[in-house]
Amino acid sequence: MNLVVLGATGSIGSQTLEIARRRGHRVVGVSAYHAGDRLWRVVDEFRPEVYAFQEGDDRPGVGRRVDGPDALRELALWPGADAVVVAVNGFDGLTPMLAAIAAGRRVAAATKESIIAGGDLLRGAVAGGLLLPVDSEHAAAFQLLLRRRPEEVRRLIITTSGGALRDWPIDRLPAARPQDALRHPNWSMGQLVTINSATLMNKGIEVLEAHVLFGMPLEAIDVWIHPTQIVHALVETCDGALYASLARPDMMLPIEQALVHPDLPQEALRPLEPEDLGDLTFRRPDPLRYPSLRLCREVGTIGGTMPAVLCAANEVAVAAFLADVLPFTEIIPVVETVLEAHEPQSAPDLAALQASDRWARAAAENALRRRTGR
Ligand code: MG
Repeated sequence: MNLVVLGATGSIGSQTLEIARRRGHRVVGVSAYHAGDRLWRVVDEFRPEVYAFQEGDDRPGVGRRVDGPDALRELALWPGADAVVVAVNGFDGLTPMLAAIAAGRRVAAATKESIIAGGDLLRGAVAGGLLLPVDSEHAAAFQLLLRRRPEEVRRLIITTSGGALRDWPIDRLPAARPQDALRHPNWSMGQLVTINSATLMNKGIEVLEAHVLFGMPLEAIDVWIHPTQIVHALVETCDGALYASLARPDMMLPIEQALVHPDLPQEALRPLEPEDLGDLTFRRPDPLRYPSLRLCREVGTIGGTMPAVLCAANEVAVAAFLADVLPFTEIIPVVETVLEAHEPQSAPDLAALQASDRWARAAAENALRRRTGR
């Protein structure tokens, strides 16, 4: 199989390359945000036909570089690729994702912000077999829903660890520092998604992601805290039965399932034994501790440009928290301020989404200045 990997030096990108190594896939194109040792190691090992990066200096003599604002789109359409793994941060994944899908090309999408911002533009792509989720909960839900008609499904439950600050007393949360919130109990991921796990913004975004991917109503998508994250998703059918998908907290399986769908990977990279399951406990998230869940549902109800604004404002607020200029408990209020000031546009096209993204970043910077007095 020939792969293009956008975001090749990140967590999902690296695990995709590990699958390519072990299964003998060819990597024909890669991108990274920064040109640096990690990118050049990938280029040296896989010898892709084409590569792209946004920041840094080229190293001539290692292949062909595409440059400019359309570089990711060009890579997504690179001739001869069988699948495009989109694992870039935030909103940047949407353009290459839409281009690849329009060209009838398989996309393994690990970019939940792009999926929820794209919303209407992506509907139908999952049913058409072109958009495959690389998010552990959604990959699990996708497999559980494959054999079900929509009218047979009453509820989808996705699980969360509850994040790094799950067991902190709620009145101590304002004092949480970046290093506290970055200590995720189960997963090793990028900084933005780890902080989003601590606020549960990640899970709120994932509710919207499931809404887009599977076309289920928001009220039929539920979130439960499940500290060990062995169960990734549960589907309740109309007869009251609950079907669960269990796997290690490891992205290798979802990535590989997305690449080979409708087949299944023919052998397990990391099998799971019943003795590995441990205690399977579940509890409802406390809405006071995690206001992001309510906020995301409100955003999903309005739709249009609101999800794009949510993600952009959240990125700015999380960056301020990581820079130690915004308290942890102020992240969601900053996002909410921006959402309240936004005049949503329904059925936006790509240009309207990009404009909303830019507007939201500026509005979030303003909200931060007002809050922090900078
Ligand atoms: Mg997830």
